[in-house]
Amino acid sequence: MTLRLLALPGDGIGPEITEATCAVVRAALNGVQIDVAQIGFAALEAAGTTIPEKVIAKARAADGVILGPVSHNAYPPVADGGLNPSGVLRKQLALFANIRPARSHPAVPTPTGHAVDMVVVRENLEGFYADRNMESGPAEFMPVPGVALSMRRITEANSRAIAEAGYALARRRGSRRVAVIHKANVLRLSDGLFLDTVRDVARNYPEIETDELLIDAAAALFVRDPTRFDVVIATNMYGDILSDLASELAGGLGLAASLNHGADHAVAQAQHGSAPDLAGQGVANPGSLIGSAAMLLDHLGQPDAAALIQNALFAALCAPATRTPDLGGAASTAAMTDAILTHIEQAK
Ligand code: ATP
Ligand code: MG
Repeated sequence: MTLRLLALPGDGIGPEITEATCAVVRAALNGVQIDVAQIGFAALEAAGTTIPEKVIAKARAADGVILGPVSHNAYPPVADGGLNPSGVLRKQLALFANIRPARSHPAVPTPTGHAVDMVVVRENLEGFYADRNMESGPAEFMPVPGVALSMRRITEANSRAIAEAGYALARRRGSRRVAVIHKANVLRLSDGLFLDTVRDVARNYPEIETDELLIDAAAALFVRDPTRFDVVIATNMYGDILSDLASELAGGLGLAASLNHGADHAVAQAQHGSAPDLAGQGVANPGSLIGSAAMLLDHLGQPDAAALIQNALFAALCAPATRTPDLGGAASTAAMTDAILTHIEQAK
């Protein structure tokens, strides 16, 4: 069966790394179809919204989506219609899990000198995210001038779903331990519910040991000894912050891949944002989105194509000459992509 993917290039370095990723996916999987549609500022200019309804429908109809980064975190907001496309897709396609591996490469130095191989499993639909939090009404408001309130939503259902995803992944990886991140000593009701639910799921995985860690202690331990972490399960915002930390500890955001998935849909997305400082220069590291696309193909039942991409990315990173500047090299986005394409052709 032909796989039909949708690529959404996005803003900043998005178009450059999305083009590279599509070329790599085409090389690794014969016959794959990749449709392209605009989101972000390009869509805002053409259609008055950063994510048109038509694009949401295309994403729903596709087997999988390759999502480029979008600039959405300007404050104050730059324009009306500036919805966060990534948040909209997560909600519309019910992508409850964000799987964020952080794995160092033997040839790429890490800031602590430790090899890192962990996966942050981040809840993706609720928590402290005002744009997708509440069924009705704003999740942030000012009851009186000078006082702003934010609501954080934690449900048993979503906590169970992310815990199931985390422990199932741990079992597939052969992990001996899972870390659960919380602040239930302060957020007794919300993080208490999350923690109780994870404990309940953990009972079905007696071979796996569970470490319950406060978010602040976990951040310190990540830096002190990242090797003690394997699968890390966290609510939305803790998971967002810890996964950036983990990726830097593993060698940099330029290699940080992720997959968003629910029961019916999956979206490949780099962990980083649109890096406007690098946009248009042809120097962005495409590894993050290429690695994300490999995760997507694996999820869609194409493990051979996924492995072909992962191995080619690994091989390209071995040679300093084919590394981008964020990794201390001098290669352009295109040169690193060409190296990956060459490794794929050699392996086929
Ligand atoms: P946004 O507002 O879209 O989140 P940002 O300015 O926060 O963008 P990020 O993309 O989140 O930037 O990443 C922070 C910095 O990390 C970038 O400014 C860039 O220097 C570096 N970086 C991120 N992604 C890459 C990449 N793929 N290749 C090289 N450097 C990167
Ligand atoms: Mg950012």
